[in-house]
Amino acid sequence: MSMGCSDRPGLMPLADGLAHLLERLVPLSGAGSVALADSVGRITAASIRAEAPVPAWDNSAMDGYALRRADLLADKPLPIQGRSLAGQPYTEPLKPGYCVRVMTGAVLPAGCDAVVMQEEAEVSDRGVTFEKVPEQGNNIRRAGEDCRAGDRLLPEGHCIRPQDVALLASVGCAEVSVRPRLKVGLLATGDELRQPDETLGVGDLYDSNRPALHALLARLGVQVNDYGVVADDPDALRQVLQQADTECDLVITSGGVSVGEADYTRQVLGELGDIEIWKLAIKPGKPLAFGRLSNSWFIGLPGNPVSSLVTFHLVATRAIRQLQGQPDKALPSLRATTTEAIRKTPGRMDFQRGVWRQTETGVEVRPTRAQQASHILGSLTEANCYIALEQDRGSVAAGETVTLWLFDALFSS
Ligand code: AMP
Ligand code: MG
Repeated sequence: MSMGCSDRPGLMPLADGLAHLLERLVPLSGAGSVALADSVGRITAASIRAEAPVPAWDNSAMDGYALRRADLLADKPLPIQGRSLAGQPYTEPLKPGYCVRVMTGAVLPAGCDAVVMQEEAEVSDRGVTFEKVPEQGNNIRRAGEDCRAGDRLLPEGHCIRPQDVALLASVGCAEVSVRPRLKVGLLATGDELRQPDETLGVGDLYDSNRPALHALLARLGVQVNDYGVVADDPDALRQVLQQADTECDLVITSGGVSVGEADYTRQVLGELGDIEIWKLAIKPGKPLAFGRLSNSWFIGLPGNPVSSLVTFHLVATRAIRQLQGQPDKALPSLRATTTEAIRKTPGRMDFQRGVWRQTETGVEVRPTRAQQASHILGSLTEANCYIALEQDRGSVAAGETVTLWLFDALFSS
């Protein structure tokens, strides 16, 4: 591997791990068509251009009167020549010395150069008088003001949002060409893992990683193939991984990637594919496996519940974006003042779970009341950000400035 290492031998800085991952992963090809109404969360397979301008015609931005400004110089009331409503245009050109009654969205008759809102007009038997001469183009929405024919509305590799649906609908688009849904296989390993309908034996625990990872993947809009819990048994693991490899584009596992006696994931992945075990210089989440199987890519997340979800957030989402052909995107970050001291040892980058808030004077943060250990899920449920403490940094005193990595939509309600 041609990447830098942290000060601690064998530990790789997160940025180097991510750079390596993005270099290796190739976006999946292919395209399909979906109805616009079903397109939210899908990724555009090509850029989308407007075929027609929006608005299509010059039209009124107000309920009022369309007129020719020069006609107001005579200081006489302008008789109403006709009415133009949204969907019921008045097609005659404006005659000299007249005005046209217009409603919001109505097509502007030829010859008009301003619209005066009705609140600034007075109607009498002789016509309409106006308080003042409006500016040229006042209250007129020009054709093509939102987009012109040929304008690029969305780039390729864009995840479609509700506001994009509005934009596409406004140009008459009914179907969108999108990337195929990424197929992501998911499995958890561990003899100790139980399902909700099972009773816990001594040392057992309920599997929390798989339901959470499933939920995260579903939120990302990928197709999740859930292979359940696999025992700490190389043969069982081999069989499931081989099946997942043939059925998926990416396989995500939880557990078994560290160096314990029952940590078979890395062993079997190594047999079936080309594996790179990483010890990332981050806390939580040191062990992480990444590599290639025959047909798919895989990411082996650590088993500890907080580590598993944090590494998914920091690493796996970036891999998924890359495979879907989306531009890479880090979490939004912010500087903040910590209101409490934070304990840290230099050597790894810490992603402590924090709670930030905006105050009158700036942004404040504190670590969660829940402990920062990698098995305390309460630290993640209480938090709204990571307090990202640099690798070389030691303990932080109250009042010092720290960098926050904010939870994005994936980790927010
Ligand atoms: P491992 O990475 O397999 O060595 O697991 C590390 C720790 O995480 C152990 O305490 C496991 O019991 C726990 N763990 C592993 N997988 C899960 C899971 N799916 N849900 C909850 N805890 C887990
Ligand atoms: Mg295990």
